[in-house]
Amino acid sequence: MFENLSERLSGVFDRLTKQGALSEEDVKTALREVRVALLEADVSLPVARDFVKAVQEKATGQAVTKSITPGQQVVKIVHDALIDVLSGEGEPGALKVDNPPAPILMVGLQGGGKTTTTAKLAKRLKERDGKRVLMASLDVNRPAAMEQLAILGVQIGVDTLPIIKGEDPVAITKRAKTQAGLGGYDVYMLDTAGRLSIDEELMQQVEAVRDVVTPRETLLVVDGLTGQDAVHTAENFDERIGISGVVLTRMDGDGRGGAALSMRAVTGKPIKFVGLGEKMDALETFEPERIAGRILG
Ligand code: GDP
Repeated sequence: MFENLSERLSGVFDRLTKQGALSEEDVKTALREVRVALLEADVSLPVARDFVKAVQEKATGQAVTKSITPGQQVVKIVHDALIDVLSGEGEPGALKVDNPPAPILMVGLQGGGKTTTTAKLAKRLKERDGKRVLMASLDVNRPAAMEQLAILGVQIGVDTLPIIKGEDPVAITKRAKTQAGLGGYDVYMLDTAGRLSIDEELMQQVEAVRDVVTPRETLLVVDGLTGQDAVHTAENFDERIGISGVVLTRMDGDGRGGAALSMRAVTGKPIKFVGLGEKMDALETFEPERIAGRILG
């Protein structure tokens, strides 16, 4: 993750560090390269611009301390600024799942990794938090997707709501809610249908489902490799449905990590988890510190 950006920034700062003293021109040149590196990582232009501006203001005002080299000092300022942009409020990865049964709504476009992430998260809630979880698929247009969730459920030892053919998403949601209450579940997760692109029908369906349960968490699952598209998708879903957080998938790929930076800055929503592979354990809490460290290399 973030390999290109990381290498690029390291290169910039290596050069700086070797020069000893840090002139204003050095800072400017370095930050110009930082900006290019961010853009190449698919960070949106306004976000990259704001980021560089904030770093420049901090760097210019600061006296060069004797204990560290000027290069290291700029690295630290960039590092702190990255964490600022990436950090959300509260504990990363924490979900509001008190007051059982707590509904979690999983939303996103088809192919983004929604069903896989639903199961990964259910496994995590079960194993790390000791929660009893029920999963239900609402993807009535794709029977294969409903079966996929059932299969994953068996694999990870988490119950899924039995599939009843011909039922609509709202009816399934009501049944899941009732079953979660009667069955003594702590959490029930609703894997909504995805579409290849955002459309009115999809949004209306998700709205109807949302209004049945009032989710404690509404998590948008998006492919982290799609960069700014992922950010636009998040803006759209947040406007219509209201999301409480984001899961960025495929962060195991050699993708451009800029989505993480833009996502937080543009939507104001926290990235709660990252998907790092197809396996059921390949889900990690999003950690700004670690990501910032990786960016800087
Ligand atoms: P959905 O249509 O949004 O429900 O997407 P799926 O959950 O069916 O995922 C689509 C494909 O992406 C599947 O082959 C998953 O195994 C794969 N996938 C999901 N998350 C990740 C991830 O974090 N990394 C990688 N490499 N593959 C993933």
